[in-house]
Amino acid sequence: MTNIILLGPPGAGKGTQAAMLVEERGMIQLSTGDMLREAKDSGTEMGKIVADVMARGDLVTDEIVIGLIREKLQGDKAGGFIFDGFPRTLAQADALGELMAEQGETLDHVIELQVNDEVLVDRIVGRAAEAVAAGGTARADDNAESLKIRLMAYYKQTSPLIGYYHAKGMLKGVDGLGSMDGVKAEIAGVLEA
Ligand code: ADP
Repeated sequence: MTNIILLGPPGAGKGTQAAMLVEERGMIQLSTGDMLREAKDSGTEMGKIVADVMARGDLVTDEIVIGLIREKLQGDKAGGFIFDGFPRTLAQADALGELMAEQGETLDHVIELQVNDEVLVDRIVGRAAEAVAAGGTARADDNAESLKIRLMAYYKQTSPLIGYYHAKGMLKGVDGLGSMDGVKAEIAGVLEA
């Protein structure tokens, strides 16, 4: 059983890679973004509180997301956890370390998907257009203004985790600019090393 974090800016491909790992390795994807969107869509109190923050592109409070993750860690562990979009702050990283220790679990790898900003903007704008073309609606935060704030939040609050996990000897960099299968193969290389 392997527990990993997928780290990288919005649009880096964390969700895409996580879905393939779930499919092929029976791992469990824990996406705090998905959990928060579900809470929003189901109209819970918490969902109402986070909706505006998310639409704007800012981070919701550590307390809320740590609470969501704490609950999930007590459930089925299957082939291991993929943390997708969590942790996003140093406080969340510390909390995850403690929660894993409480469960007798270890974090095996932190996989950083490395991309550049132009690609991110293109991917996210493309994703929004595809959603609309398919007759749906784009995510509330998939617009140029929110994206700028999401990227800023990533660089200010999340990118320090690269140093944090590097110092722990857990960081593995993967080139996120390749094809979906190319990135998948690089991740497989990390998992099987
Ligand atoms: P992306 O990686 O494309 O930015 P996510 O689906 O991971 O998207 O997250 C969407 C939004 O949900 C974030 O912009 C933020 O508002 C909120 N969110 C998700 N995960 C966290 C987290 N770990 N801490 C704080 N806010 C979060």
